Amino acid sequence: MKKTVTCTVCPNGCEIEVDYTTREDAALMGYGCKRGIAYAIDECFEPKRTFTSSVKITGSDRRMMPVRTTAPIPKDLLIKAAQAINSVTLEAPVKCGQVIDDDFLGTKVKLVTTLTLERGDAQ
Ligand code: SF4
Repeated sequence: MKKTVTCTVCPNGCEIEVDYTTREDAALMGYGCKRGIAYAIDECFEPKRTFTSSVKITGSDRRMMPVRTTAPIPKDLLIKAAQAINSVTLEAPVKCGQVIDDDFLGTKVKLVTTLTLERGDAQ
């Protein structure tokens, strides 16, 4: 099977061609460094994405708090991730980087807030 992957690890955006049947026999062309090899192999066999969304918050004029995972999680889990955070409600005050879940969906990746919000803050 052949696939072209655009590496997003750095701004160079190398177009990497992967010819493979298994992870072990994959032949790659077009990568600019070793990080691209790992990225392209993962894209073919276990694509991952950083999850970003918002959860409800009380105790503040703001109603939603932006959140993200601290590392990419399997792409297959993104819908489950969106469903999982529907039941999450934080209460202000909340610090940027506050851990909501330290093993989000069993991935060993943290789900954290991306904003500091004081109680009653009207940002
Ligand atoms: S392969 Fe290396 S140089 Fe090319 S985009 Fe990926 S990280 Fe950057």
